[in-house]
Amino acid sequence: VVEARGVRKRFGDHDVLRGIDLAVAPHEVVVLIGASGSGKSTLLRTMNLIEQVDDGQIFLGGDDITDPRVDADKVRARIGVVFQHFNLFPHLSVIDNVTLAARRVHGIPKDEARARAQKLLDTLGLGAKAAEYPDRLSGGQQQRVAIVRAILTEPELLLLDEITSALDPQLVGEVLDLVRDLKGRGTTILMATHEMSFAREVADRVVFLKDGVLVEQGTPEQIFGAPQHPATAEFLARVH
Ligand code: ATP
Ligand code: MG
Repeated sequence: VVEARGVRKRFGDHDVLRGIDLAVAPHEVVVLIGASGSGKSTLLRTMNLIEQVDDGQIFLGGDDITDPRVDADKVRARIGVVFQHFNLFPHLSVIDNVTLAARRVHGIPKDEARARAQKLLDTLGLGAKAAEYPDRLSGGQQQRVAIVRAILTEPELLLLDEITSALDPQLVGEVLDLVRDLKGRGTTILMATHEMSFAREVADRVVFLKDGVLVEQGTPEQIFGAPQHPATAEFLARVH
C-alpha cells in the first residue's frame, strides 16, 4: 500500500529521518515504536505530505507521492489520519464532523454520506451519539469519532499517531478496541504508539526507530520476545 524508500528529513542541522525504508502491505497493521524524538511522527507526516522529504521517495498504491508535481490534496484524500489531539469541530455534531470531508473533499452527496456515517457509527457502537456535539462526549468517544471520520471514505491507508496518549487511562481501552475492530475489517494501518502492550497485541509487524534510523523490525514475538539489536532490547527494558 505504502512504501518509503530512503526517506530523509532534516530540520536545521538535525537529521530526523536518516534513510528510512519501510513498506506496508495491504491489510497489514504496522506499529512504529521508539523513544520520544526518534522520528515516528515525522515519518507519518511525510506520508501525509505534511512534511516534505529531503531525499528518498514514498509510494502510495504505486504512485510516487513525493514527486513535486503531485496534487497533495488528492494524495491526502486517499489517506485517513488521526493524531493525538482529537480535532473535531466543536460547532458541528458528530455526524456532521464525520461526514464533512466526505462531502467537501470527496463530493459524496449529503444524504449518502450521512447514511454511510450512521451505519459505520452504529457498527462501531457510536450510533446513539450521532446528533451530539463533541463537548458532550468523553475523550475516548471523541477519539473514536475522529477515527470513524478518518475511515468513512475507506482510505487506502490509515495513519494513527499516538491516538491514546492524550486520554485518561480508563478511556484508552475503548479506542484500542476500535483499532482492533478496524484490523478485523482489513484496514491497512501504520501507527505510532507508546502502548507496548497494544503494539504487541495488534501489530502484524513492529518497527523500532532510533534517532531516525530503522534499527529493527519483525513480528511482535520477535521484537518483544527476542530483540536482535541491543538498542531494541535497551529501549524495551526502559519502557516496560
Ligand atoms: P514522540 O514519541 O515524542 O511523539 P517522535 O518519535 O514522534 O516522538 P518526532 O515528532 O518525529 O518524534 O520528532 C523527531 C525529532 O524532530 C525531534 O527531535 C523533534 O524535535 C524534531 N522535529 C519534529 N518536527 C520538527 C519541526 N517542525 N521543526 C524542527 N524540529 C522538528
Ligand atoms: Mg510523535
